[in-house]
Amino acid sequence: DFEADISELTGEVRKYLPDNRHPFITLDPNKCINCGKCVRTCSEILMVSALDFVNRGFKAIVKPAMEKPLLETNCISCGNCIDVCPTGAISEKFPFKIPGTLPKENHETVCNFCSVGCKINYKVLSDDVYYVSNNTEEIMNSHNNGYLCVKGKFGHRYLTSGNRIETPIIKLNGKASEVKTDEAVQYASKRIKNIIKKYGADSVAIFGSPKMSNEELFLLQKFARAGLKTNNISSFSNMISDCEYDSLDDSLGLTVSTTSMDNLMNADVIVAINSNLSEDNLIMELKIKKAQKKGAKLIVINSSEIKITKFADLWIDSRKGTNTILLNGILSELIKKGLVNEDFIKTNTENFSELKNMLQGNNAEDVCELTEIDIEKYKELTHLL
Ligand code: SF4
Ligand code: SF4
Repeated sequence: DFEADISELTGEVRKYLPDNRHPFITLDPNKCINCGKCVRTCSEILMVSALDFVNRGFKAIVKPAMEKPLLETNCISCGNCIDVCPTGAISEKFPFKIPGTLPKENHETVCNFCSVGCKINYKVLSDDVYYVSNNTEEIMNSHNNGYLCVKGKFGHRYLTSGNRIETPIIKLNGKASEVKTDEAVQYASKRIKNIIKKYGADSVAIFGSPKMSNEELFLLQKFARAGLKTNNISSFSNMISDCEYDSLDDSLGLTVSTTSMDNLMNADVIVAINSNLSEDNLIMELKIKKAQKKGAKLIVINSSEIKITKFADLWIDSRKGTNTILLNGILSELIKKGLVNEDFIKTNTENFSELKNMLQGNNAEDVCELTEIDIEKYKELTHLL
């Protein structure tokens, strides 16, 4: 009826084996239309360049660099190529089977793996069958422009992992047994009460998980202060990131940044200290790279070489554990050269004269000797700042 001529549709066909070697990503070149979106996302946005075209003409296909398994390239497993691929040639390996093309609901939320707070969209089929796909218009226009790091894209899988402990366990006389939640709560309550009775309220401490919501953390500190009468409250994130957040309270008066990520776009110089951004804050790294394209200079202070160091205008490889000496040295140079904003200091800070006195006698040679930084690099650093 349609006068279709089958001979027009026959001819050479490309046949490739899908590459399933990555734990989360399948590459199926048979579905590729060579649009290049994945290649450009990986090289121009992420500046990773783990994918590229190989061969020419009809045989051209997208493959990982040097045709290696994706995991053996510099791929950071962010999965952003999955969301941009229009044909499913790059797709996610799901830990479940999705029957047919059943409709999925979009559930937009905020990723809670780090403080960047990327907008994230879950495609939900049921309570146990869902995945992240950041292709809604609102998410693409959000501050992370739809891009995610490996934690945001695949990190939620711990929730559906078969290894997850879902039932409370009590260990008595060396034997662990599964119990009902009520029983576990009663048992924990009895043990905590006994400890407090014997040693006082200060002998117990409460740790909050970084995965808890603000409301849950509020209730947890209420439980500690009003219920257990202890102020021993902390967070596991202090242990995970080996970072003392109280020092921010001491110096800034609050445990948050004094600027927003959007202000990075207006920065002339950005200094990243002890931050492995590619692993810990990929989206922040993308914003820094964007700011560099606008002319910002990036200084990375890190004792070892990390991925971001190759994009830095200046890499300061100070000896591990000497960054306080380095920062004091920088402060001292800025004060000596009269480069501090006196008006800002008068209206926004306290005890500046004490700081000035403390830094007197600080000199570049000593700082470089203690931090093992090349003196020329140190001069370049203070010049850039
Ligand atoms: S997962 Fe990320 S880094 Fe790896 S190829 Fe895809 S876009 Fe590039
Ligand atoms: S985005 Fe998909 S279809 Fe386009 S070149 Fe990459 S793999 Fe091929």
